[in-house]
Amino acid sequence: MKYISTRGHVAPQGFIDTVLMGLADDGGLMIPEKIPHVSAATLKEWSTLSYKELFLQVFSLYTNEEIPKEDLKEMVDKSYASFRSPEVTPVKQLNDSLYILELFHGPTFAFKDVALQFMGEFYSYVSKKQNKIIHILGATSGDTGAAAIQGVRGKEGIKICILHPHEKVSKVQELQMTTVDDKNVLNLSVKGNFDDCQKLIKEQFADLDFKSKHNLRAINSINFVRILAQSVYYFYAYFQIEQGDQPKKVNVSVPSGNFGNIFSGFLAKMMGLPIHKLIIATNENNILERFVKSGEYKPGEFRSTHSPSMDIQVASNFERYLYYFLGQDAEKVSAYMNSLQNDGEIVISAEDLVRVQNDFEAHGASNEQGLQLISTYKAEYDYLLDPHTACGVAAYEECNGEDEICISFATAHPAKFNEAIEQCDIEQKFPAEIEQLFAKLQHQLVIDHNKEEIVKELVAFYEQ
Ligand SMILES: *Cc1c(COP(=O)(O)O)cnc(C)c1O
Repeated sequence: MKYISTRGHVAPQGFIDTVLMGLADDGGLMIPEKIPHVSAATLKEWSTLSYKELFLQVFSLYTNEEIPKEDLKEMVDKSYASFRSPEVTPVKQLNDSLYILELFHGPTFAFKDVALQFMGEFYSYVSKKQNKIIHILGATSGDTGAAAIQGVRGKEGIKICILHPHEKVSKVQELQMTTVDDKNVLNLSVKGNFDDCQKLIKEQFADLDFKSKHNLRAINSINFVRILAQSVYYFYAYFQIEQGDQPKKVNVSVPSGNFGNIFSGFLAKMMGLPIHKLIIATNENNILERFVKSGEYKPGEFRSTHSPSMDIQVASNFERYLYYFLGQDAEKVSAYMNSLQNDGEIVISAEDLVRVQNDFEAHGASNEQGLQLISTYKAEYDYLLDPHTACGVAAYEECNGEDEICISFATAHPAKFNEAIEQCDIEQKFPAEIEQLFAKLQHQLVIDHNKEEIVKELVAFYEQ
């Protein structure tokens, strides 16, 4: 299996080099040359596998020439040993049509752990095997940073620097990142917003000389390994639904920001998993909802919401979808991305919009609706939704059809976003792992949004 860029100007790469490359050298995103197809018979065989066994099956289709099975197995075992549920991502049924896929049982209580625990093991493996220095650089609105740091803390051959917007992440997110005292971790708390941090690191990655000189590696969802790792739980969740003699159609509703998680679902569906509707759930930052409803992809005004991990205006992974939507034509993708860059928007024809609407449905929840659902579901089912998960449930209520089943994704544990839960007058008990963070010392460097200063700190850390 080889990997190519959505923009068409990167020579085909193997799996390991694709992960190491992160953002494609031509500015595009890496994707498999050909999506492997899983037959109905194989799906049936897979349906009784454990999470880890299923992970191995899915990954083998993408890595088998390069990574020996026993090595992969060892990485998977280590990755998911840190999860608090033996099922890794358990499914809870709330009523006849609604199931919740709990993706928050990893060390930092958000779905990012599922892919980033594996990515930490993978980088460690590559570092040892190929004697490579791994210097991770990432920007976070909160969850990715915490999960990435947990994935690599204390690992030899790896250093990680994470930029987060100063005082614009939730308290628990900040503590999860900054109470880690391993020497291979640097937290830069930047006096700016998430987009400032994101832009700054994108520039460092786009500077190919800097990238290669400092061995920069990416952990955000532009990295294909994250997409692939996330596709595993789509299969797993689908197989957990008990269907009777008259099987119902199964939809998924996915709280979305950077389009990474939902693209993993699109990938699973292209591989042959018979998901009916892929429902994109957004908050008030609803560029994706507007695209699916109107055919116009245009960043709007940034809003701070109760679900900060979805407060994103430009969804990086959207380019991967465009590639398939445009018939795998890299020239067209480049043209569309140029028009986004130059005109600030992508507009598609009415005919094309019909095709988009065959692929996705979408709903954006207001802050108000989110809080209301948190209260309602607590009262009705004694189930506490976090504000991101509440957006997913809002989209389920809006888009799920009669006689259809929906698996709505719980992307974070409510304890991570107590600021919103308190507004619903609900008192929650924090898990011990989160409670104990409040007593720990924090390690971070608060720094102005000044590129020169930041790069100086970065280089000093990587070179020390
Ligand atoms: C990152 C995140 C999302 C958005 O996921 P994308 O892959 O960026 O679409 C949703 N919910 C939570 C809790 C997150 O941390």
